[in-house]
Amino acid sequence: MIGRIKTVGVLTSGGDAPGMNAALRAVTRSAIYNGFKVKGIYRGYRGLVEDEIVDFEAKDVSGIIHRGGTILRTARCKEFRTPEGRKKAYENMQKQGIDALVVIGGDGTLTGAWQFAREFDVPIVGLPGTIDNDLNGTDHTIGYDTALNTIMWCVDRIRDTANSHERLFFIEVMGRDAGFLALNGAIAGGAEAAIIPEISIENDQLAQLIENGFRTTKRSSIVLVAESPVTGGAMGLAERVRNEYPQYDVRVTILGHLQRGGSPTAQDRILASRMGEAAIDALVEGQRNVMIGDDDEQMVYVPFSKALSSDNKKTIDRHLLDTLSHLAI
Ligand code: ATP
Repeated sequence: MIGRIKTVGVLTSGGDAPGMNAALRAVTRSAIYNGFKVKGIYRGYRGLVEDEIVDFEAKDVSGIIHRGGTILRTARCKEFRTPEGRKKAYENMQKQGIDALVVIGGDGTLTGAWQFAREFDVPIVGLPGTIDNDLNGTDHTIGYDTALNTIMWCVDRIRDTANSHERLFFIEVMGRDAGFLALNGAIAGGAEAAIIPEISIENDQLAQLIENGFRTTKRSSIVLVAESPVTGGAMGLAERVRNEYPQYDVRVTILGHLQRGGSPTAQDRILASRMGEAAIDALVEGQRNVMIGDDDEQMVYVPFSKALSSDNKKTIDRHLLDTLSHLAI
């Protein structure tokens, strides 16, 4: 099929992330620049299965680089997890004359793409679009920087209240399996600590914090907590504090969907634009089944097998935990 690509389909899938629109714009315009036709697929894989597909021109992606969310909408599609669903998706691709796909989403989206590419002879390039920053082979994912800035903005405001009332605040952020947002959000917000899944499965971070004389010299303390079934997130930890350490006046803020929205930062717009262009370059060069990554500022092609490898998960830099605790004295 390579060499005969005429029409590229593009979709956004999974959780929305700021910068997805900038990526859509870049994919669409680079594809047109290279002589391809473009089709926009609505609601992720659901649009492929249900044939919600429209022609995309350069003008269809005008005025969106600064907008959060995704104009193509996104969805989670159970049917695409089944062989029958993927067969329908393939039939719709053929009907629409789509010869290659660019998918923008997180690890689930790329896992689905990889499965689809193995079953049908379809060239697919993935863009890492997720606020979690948890994909292997890329220094950053599209949306992560914006979410981090939003978290910092919220922490700054909560600090005013925390200081005024001399309270302990647990601020819960997203990142069920990866503590990038919690740890770097804590550093950027000048928080006292971060409780993250990577460490919580090994140690009782809350007990350690209290034992280490946490908050003896402070008027207030802010701890960023990654949502996690291991710790029960900020609510679970606050409950423990009330029962085990009642001397602390603890409060919880769950940032939730605040973290996903908003206009993407310059860094996310630039990353999305470069990755979108690199996705089309990859197809022109005959690449398939790769994710675009940024490695030390360079755009690289990362095979799906590497980006999604569970043996080789993207790891947090544990030195940052030391940085955090050294700066919180
Ligand atoms: P986020 O990181 O923001 O959660 P995501 O891309 O990981 O985004 P998921 O809901 O995990 O979000 O996956 C998006 C969609 O990808 C699913 O709804 C499903 O349609 C498809 N998908 C995920 N895993 C698979 C799989 N193993 N096989 C086929 N399709 C899959």
